[in-house]
Amino acid sequence: MPITFNMDAGNQDTSDTVKLNPDVVIIGGGPAGLTAAIYNSRSGLNVLMIEKLAAGGQIFITSEVENYPGIDLISGPELSIAMENQAKKFGTRIEYDEVDKVEDGPGEFKTVHTVSGKQYKTYVVVISTGAKYKNIGVPGEELFRGKGVSNCATCDGAFYKNLEVAVIGGGETAVEEGEYLTRFASKVHIVHRRERLRASVSAQEKAMKNPKINFIFDSVLEEIAGVSGVDRIRISNLKTGVKSDLPVKGVFVFIGLVPNTSFLKGYVDMDEQGYVKTDASMNTSRAGVFACGDCIAKDLRQVVTAAGDGAVASYSAQHYIDRIKGQEYI
Ligand SMILES: Cc1cc2nc3c(=O)[nH]c(=O)nc-3n(C[C@H](O)[C@H](O)[C@H](O)COP(=O)(O)OP(=O)(O)OC[C@H]3O[C@@H](n4cnc5c(N)ncnc54)[C@H](O)[C@@H]3O)c2cc1C
Repeated sequence: MPITFNMDAGNQDTSDTVKLNPDVVIIGGGPAGLTAAIYNSRSGLNVLMIEKLAAGGQIFITSEVENYPGIDLISGPELSIAMENQAKKFGTRIEYDEVDKVEDGPGEFKTVHTVSGKQYKTYVVVISTGAKYKNIGVPGEELFRGKGVSNCATCDGAFYKNLEVAVIGGGETAVEEGEYLTRFASKVHIVHRRERLRASVSAQEKAMKNPKINFIFDSVLEEIAGVSGVDRIRISNLKTGVKSDLPVKGVFVFIGLVPNTSFLKGYVDMDEQGYVKTDASMNTSRAGVFACGDCIAKDLRQVVTAAGDGAVASYSAQHYIDRIKGQEYI
């Protein structure tokens, strides 16, 4: 039987029509989006995931994950690929593109627009766009980005074999990525503005025992300087006011996150930092639009919480579609 592409057929379930318009569009292919994709595809929905960079999201640039239940230790890229393959196995289609607008209509559908000019009509939208690392905003940060300034130890750590580097931040990611960098660097200076770390006790204990790690507390980064690449950073002690220079070749900044939600401003409710507000079922303020993972307002941003949110969002999405189709099991 010949296959006909029918852009106007909407989401009709006809056997000879390849449905270009999916039931669910998932925006963002990190752990939250991939989990929603696994669940929704596995339950027979036609799922399109739109990812602007690489499936896996932040874990794709994470050295190692050792706190995902059931997996003792796995590299970020390995976990990303495993999740992506699982979603594809159940039928998820992945398009590499960036979503720049979502709107209601036509009728009961939503329309998702991408920067490449594509439009997708769908019953449901799942927002799983995650978050990215905040810039610190000091002189030299932009100038030396990619020439010594990085937010990714996995991607760039190997460039610093036997060299000194600095990590800015005191949370879990800063300490764990600092630890990872000691595989390459001769010294890793972890510069933190407070007198103690925010990272978990286990991560702290491991790092404190590492002779290659030097903690510099109560201090902030003021400037990144160099000639063709980074040669030194200037730090300032907040208690004593003393400024000093550290001779480092790399600066890894892990000082918190900014949600990737600016394109949704005015469409769904957000908190003052731009995190999407949801209820416990991952409903946003707009019917048929669900959100999950690091882009939502919540306390703990991790792979396991992103995956959990994604599962809940997919369940709510399924019920919403069943309701629209008059197929809800009551
Ligand atoms: C260096 C590092 C180490 C970490 N270590 C750990 C760890 O050991 N254990 C742990 O549990 N967690 C860890 N985390 C946190 C964990 O990676 C995140 O909590 C998790 O990835 C969040 O998943 P997510 O799917 O919500 O978002 P993300 O992983 O941020 O994925 C969102 C995806 O959406 C895409 N996207 C964004 N906007 C658009 C758009 N407009 N159109 C299309 N696509 C878009 C992005 O490209 C991205 O791929 C770490 C994070 C980092 C950065």
